[in-house]
Amino acid sequence: MKTRAIYILPLFIFLIIFLALWQIQKLDRSKVTNINEVSEVAKSPPVTELPVLVDTEKDSEQVNDKEITDDYQTLKDRIISKFINQIPLQWNEVVDGVKTKLSTGEKVIALTFDACGGSRGSGYDRDLINYLIDNQVPVTLFINARWIDANFEIFGQLADNPLFEIANHGTEHKPCSVNSKSIYGEAGTNNVGEVVDEIEKNARKIEAIIGHRPKYYRSGTAYYDEVCVRVSEDLGHEVAGFNVLGDAGATFLKEQVKKALLSVSPGSIVLLHMNQPNGDTAEGVIAAIPMLKEMGYSFVLLSEHVLE
Ligand SMILES: [Zn+2]
Repeated sequence: MKTRAIYILPLFIFLIIFLALWQIQKLDRSKVTNINEVSEVAKSPPVTELPVLVDTEKDSEQVNDKEITDDYQTLKDRIISKFINQIPLQWNEVVDGVKTKLSTGEKVIALTFDACGGSRGSGYDRDLINYLIDNQVPVTLFINARWIDANFEIFGQLADNPLFEIANHGTEHKPCSVNSKSIYGEAGTNNVGEVVDEIEKNARKIEAIIGHRPKYYRSGTAYYDEVCVRVSEDLGHEVAGFNVLGDAGATFLKEQVKKALLSVSPGSIVLLHMNQPNGDTAEGVIAAIPMLKEMGYSFVLLSEHVLE
């Protein structure tokens, strides 16, 4: 009898512990179910457990409110005092400091698409972007603040796709001048302070939405003076020019876009537009990409290479 008790007692204790643990687990599970039920009702808008790269729940107004933070004026004052006495000597698409190609001899090119915003520039070339997605062609998108406001959800989707790199195309799409130069009838920024506003406000807007700061800046009209380029660098942006004019502000016909694209050389940066769906840019790009691939070219983001 004694020997049997030695075996049965531990078994009995084990059974009790097991039952107790099982009950506790059951309680926990029912608690979790309840939390889910509550949150099903309470969650509006839905909350995701995954890290949110792009918060499309925010509307653009909320993001605009976040643009100006306490340190903004300090930054602006510092840059104004640093550059105020610098007099520019150049005014062009390519001035000192503007990078126009990738530093490589490999057969790679960077397609860049501007989205200029404003009343005539806030369209979205869906056919073009869908083609790039379907064919997995990575490109860099230069986005203006006004285009973001007009296409907030689409911007979020583009930024969320690793195929697309988001770059800064200014706040009001102004040519980049520290002394009121203009080009094509478009008035440039008037002084260093306005240059800071033009670059930094959109940089902060983009960062507030996508979680990181853009690395490249291209001004409206792609015109600069060299002081403006230095200001841009001080604000952490490389100025990305181009060496192939791909669509001349989306005014080229299909054959012209195709011809421009086929004129690339290793490391070319091509300037195109994604905001004029009625233009021929998409048709020209769609015609040229398979031919470029046959020529041995592949496509890269600006950030995949050093620029020169
Ligand atoms: Zn533009």
